[in-house]
Amino acid sequence: MFDVAVVGAGPAGLAAAVHAAGAGLSVALVDAGAQPGGQFWRHPVEGEASAGAPEPAGHHGWQQFAVLRARLYAHESAGRITYWRNAQVWLLAAGPAAGVLHLAPALDVPGGAPDALPATVRARRLILCPGGYDRQLPVPGWDLPGVMAAGGVQALLKGSGTAAGKVAVVAGTGPFLLPVATGLAGAGVRVAAICEANSPAGWLRNLRGAVQAPEKAVEGAAYAAALARHRIPYRVRTAVTEIHGTDRVEAVTMSHLARDGMVVPGTGRRVSCDVVALGWGFTPQLELVLAAGAATTMDVDGSLVAVVDDRLATGVPGISVAGEAAGVGGASMAVVEGELAALCVAAESGGARAGAAGLGARIARLQRERARLRGFAVAMHRANPVPERWQGWLVPETVVCRCEEVSYGELCRAHVELGARDARSLKSFARPGMGWCQGRVCGYAAASIAANLAGRPFGGPAAAADLRAMAKRALAAPVPLGQLAAMAPGQPEPALPPLETPAAKGDPT
Ligand SMILES: Cc1cc2nc3c(=O)[nH]c(=O)nc-3n(C[C@H](O)[C@H](O)[C@H](O)COP(=O)(O)OP(=O)(O)OC[C@H]3O[C@@H](n4cnc5c(N)ncnc54)[C@H](O)[C@@H]3O)c2cc1C
Repeated sequence: MFDVAVVGAGPAGLAAAVHAAGAGLSVALVDAGAQPGGQFWRHPVEGEASAGAPEPAGHHGWQQFAVLRARLYAHESAGRITYWRNAQVWLLAAGPAAGVLHLAPALDVPGGAPDALPATVRARRLILCPGGYDRQLPVPGWDLPGVMAAGGVQALLKGSGTAAGKVAVVAGTGPFLLPVATGLAGAGVRVAAICEANSPAGWLRNLRGAVQAPEKAVEGAAYAAALARHRIPYRVRTAVTEIHGTDRVEAVTMSHLARDGMVVPGTGRRVSCDVVALGWGFTPQLELVLAAGAATTMDVDGSLVAVVDDRLATGVPGISVAGEAAGVGGASMAVVEGELAALCVAAESGGARAGAAGLGARIARLQRERARLRGFAVAMHRANPVPERWQGWLVPETVVCRCEEVSYGELCRAHVELGARDARSLKSFARPGMGWCQGRVCGYAAASIAANLAGRPFGGPAAAADLRAMAKRALAAPVPLGQLAAMAPGQPEPALPPLETPAAKGDPT
């Protein structure tokens, strides 16, 4: 039995694990990746001397990662952290005092299961840091080979130095388009255009939040210089509204957008390319959060996120959430949240342990830092919304759910002919989100189409219910049937011992 189990070794989980161990707790760290870093610090396979290896290209905050990673390995060697790599949590059972994680080898593990992977890990407290994935909007032709999620293009570059094509168009909204485009250009790809659906004026309308993180302006200036150096055209209020090709991408139509996202007639322009990177922000990965029974809500960016308090605790006893799953805000905010969640757990688990001194002051400082970064994130989301009328770019034949090959026309028919009024009934009648990816790719689009067809604005409680219907999955990851069969049916989980010396909330020391 561990004091705390952390799921995810990205910026949030890595920070949570090392700070929990530093405060004297015994820690289990479970991550589907082969090495720490998550999405932001994804990097080529680590060698023996990786901790001292030079910074890979295209990274930010690498020094911070190097320090966290060194601390992780030191805690691992000392037995304070047990770190399971290549291990997927496929089921979470929340007990009265904490939880049980069910583990399976991650699907793409070369050479099979990690050594001595236990079937379950038990811990008094859980800190869930599962991150998120790219949010995608369908557009005619987006199912052609050569069309990729912007994060996927970036992951290829960071993970193996592979450029996804020779001529690229990067499209969607938000600052993430910038590292993707400049990363591609740095790897020798000609970037024909960045299509940003919004206008920079959005930042001016949200200046109060934007100025809270001046370091982001410095980053922005560096990207502007890189765009100029690589001669990358940056087109605002522009979207890729159609993708052309027979066997693969050959060109896109870029169109100018009105304020509400409708295409301005006559502005379509065809541009040749062999790769299209589409990015509309990120969607938190919530399977484990929902499995724990934690509450979720719709965030300002239209994503479903876990509801947490200022100590990152959910309403479910013993379960905290940090990083993108508690609201998309970037890697620096994820690191702050990981540390904050860990210190709050440490404070509530008995402040007298080694390394636990001064927790109250550290927690208060992290809460202020989180509020500052959250202020910036909210400004960023408000400046870069998904265009309200994006569904105007679709034609009846546009595939929305790629796994089940469900078109926009079929969704409209399910609404008109079968009376599907919300995402849940749309899913039952037309099958979007029922295939291999279980709605991870089409979930946001299907939920917002459901709302639009029913004449509801995509905001508020009904839309959150639409998103929840697409996000709920019985298992967090596919597992072999043998793994399911090995679970004794009907056996209740053993009751878990309570925390040693629980302290009242708001009194961390
Ligand atoms: C593909 C992709 C690429 C990105 N690239 C960039 C970038 O270049 N620059 C940038 O600023 N932002 C990038 N982002 C955004 C970035 O993810 C976040 O800002 C930051 O990494 C969030 O940190 P996190 O710890 O919350 O999540 P993540 O970094 O996503 O880490 C989550 C970790 O949890 C693990 N995990 C999830 N579920 C399970 C489970 N059930 N069992 C076991 N392990 C699990 C994952 O394998 C992962 O290692 C990217 C996002 C994506 C999806």
